[in-house]
Amino acid sequence: MKQLQGKTALITGASRGIGKAIALKLADQGANIVFSHLSSAEQGKEVTQELEKRNVEVLAYHADVASFNKSQELIETVIQKFKQIDILVNNAGISRDNLLLRMSEQDWDDVMQVNLKSVFNLTKAVTPVMIRQRSGSIINISSVVGIKGNIGQANYAASKAGIIGITKSVALELGSRNVRCNAIAPGFIETAMTEKLSKEAKEEWIKNIPIRRVGTPEDVANCALFLASDSSSYITGQVIQVDGGMVT
Ligand code: NAP
Repeated sequence: MKQLQGKTALITGASRGIGKAIALKLADQGANIVFSHLSSAEQGKEVTQELEKRNVEVLAYHADVASFNKSQELIETVIQKFKQIDILVNNAGISRDNLLLRMSEQDWDDVMQVNLKSVFNLTKAVTPVMIRQRSGSIINISSVVGIKGNIGQANYAASKAGIIGITKSVALELGSRNVRCNAIAPGFIETAMTEKLSKEAKEEWIKNIPIRRVGTPEDVANCALFLASDSSSYITGQVIQVDGGMVT
């Protein structure tokens, strides 16, 4: 029996990278998948095809999850089609790196809207659904940068630290309704987001990772599967680092 047979999972930002790996991993375990993306229509179609090969139902949804109204619409659409939402993975994220001295107000606002407000938007919209079901697992993708900070990422680090705050608060508010909320804090994961870094910068990062390699999207997806499944039914309000020991 597959671990997530008959469940419905909604993953934001799954046209590539970590979100895509999570969508595929949850589908491998039988979950029907709804995923959102914003600009990558072609990549979105490819992900849909890969998911359909796993014999699960798939719905790709074009939405800016920074928008409160679009997020509400997204949840309503999922309920109309699947009648339930068992797993929400708030994964969509962007970075607009710069030293604070040079960071524009726009760079700050964009990152906070996409990375943090989207978590509020979707978590708020899904809460009545999960309370009614008396079950649910919400998984927020934070970052080790939200724990430790990082030069050139004041906006990104603040958004990811904010995700930890909402995760813990939601866990406290919804635990009694059997709705769990946890965060994953990935370290350095090889995706489009990190490919801009030079080879030298990557080598420098690897020197500081005890496991001596960068992470893969699948490393993060394995943790997401654990948090989505009943194997973690007594775990809520936690931040699990998937970082090869980089921040200890
Ligand atoms: P990525 O490859 O850049 O993918 C980001 C995804 O988010 C894409 O599917 C993108 O869709 C979507 N997205 C961006 N803005 C959106 C919006 N406004 N509305 C809806 N979807 C939106 O990034 P990644 O590396 O896989 O990162 C995924 C998550 O992990 C992010 O939250 C990131 O901060 C976090 N993280 C990554 C690392 C790392 O090392 N890679 C480390 C720690 C944490 P479109 O392309 O269609 O716009």
